[in-house]
Amino acid sequence: MAKESTWAGGGILSPLYPWRYHDSVTKLASWSQSEYADLCDSLKTSTNIDPEFSPSGMLCIATDEIQTAANWAERHAKSIDLAGQDKVRILEPALACSPDKAIWMSDIAHVRNPRLARALVEDIMLMGVSLTINQPVVRLLIDHDKVSGAETPNGVLESDAVVVCTGAWTGQLFNDFTSPPAIRPVKGQMLLFKTNPGTIKRIVLEDNRYIIPRKDGRVLFGSTLEEVGFDKQTTSAAREELYTLATARFPVLKQYSIEKHWAGLRPGAPAGIPYISAHPYLSGLYINAGHFRNGVVLGPASARLCADLVLGRKPILPPEPYAWQAARDE
Ligand SMILES: Cc1cc2nc3c(=O)[nH]c(=O)nc-3n(C[C@H](O)[C@H](O)[C@H](O)COP(=O)(O)OP(=O)(O)OC[C@H]3O[C@@H](n4cnc5c(N)ncnc54)[C@H](O)[C@@H]3O)c2cc1C
Repeated sequence: MAKESTWAGGGILSPLYPWRYHDSVTKLASWSQSEYADLCDSLKTSTNIDPEFSPSGMLCIATDEIQTAANWAERHAKSIDLAGQDKVRILEPALACSPDKAIWMSDIAHVRNPRLARALVEDIMLMGVSLTINQPVVRLLIDHDKVSGAETPNGVLESDAVVVCTGAWTGQLFNDFTSPPAIRPVKGQMLLFKTNPGTIKRIVLEDNRYIIPRKDGRVLFGSTLEEVGFDKQTTSAAREELYTLATARFPVLKQYSIEKHWAGLRPGAPAGIPYISAHPYLSGLYINAGHFRNGVVLGPASARLCADLVLGRKPILPPEPYAWQAARDE
């Protein structure tokens, strides 16, 4: 449980280049961002596991998108600043290049996602939720126009409400459906360096590659975007490419060893717009999947919206953009 993409991700609590996404993604991200600090505090208190919410800010080197970013920030009441060479040097002294201008988003945080996931599992168990783990669903059970449960190798789990949230593998459960969700696996590889605390201070993003500092000095550098099906192997080519980029931008990393190299499969939906929806005609069947590069930041809002739909409550956001058959234009 919580071992796939959610474990493998970087934990940045913002879409990378948020202005490149539809407003529907920004709305989910904004709702989650306003909840994250409190969520992490309350998980730490209830479980004793610290998800390490870290408001480090994100420096984004994308000088030809400054106007687009400014327009997006104004539309969504977000704070972004321009940082010139001197400010960039102060914000992240370990960065070797000094761009004339960078976009500085001071309110972007990150979490230690493997710990966040562990804390969430622990927390729901403390609430008395019963979890059945290591039992893959092989088939959804449909009785006339209604879901009646799910079949696993160990037997049937009966329910009149089923939420499919199986990440990159979601399409496999809908193989014989007429309009399956368009979710595909997109591999991402990541390197972990073990440095001294404070070696890197900020999230820095450039050309879709980014660095994330953990509180204990560990530093993540990622990530690749590979359309290679369900292959989760790491490759020496990606290791070399990421290492070369990381040490060119942050020469201090040459002093430290690579502690780990891993790959995960992102659930890629068109335009990165997740499916959070009831099935259009099978009653009791729901989906919450396809969060692509942003499942950690979109998680709280998506889970809440999905619960609203299942329970028939007033939804936190208008659900139409995330519907099964909504347009997802790239
Ligand atoms: C390298 C990398 C970096 C990333 N960085 C970030 C980031 O910085 N910020 C961010 O917001 N997002 C990031 N992401 C994206 C984010 O991790 C994903 O969008 C998110 O974790 C998806 O969550 P999920 O629960 O849908 O999928 P997963 O975490 O993959 O979980 C799916 C679960 O379903 C289970 N499953 C599959 N099939 C079945 C079945 N038939 N029966 C039962 N269970 C099944 C799997 O075992 C797994 O436990 C990153 C992803 C990667 C790979």
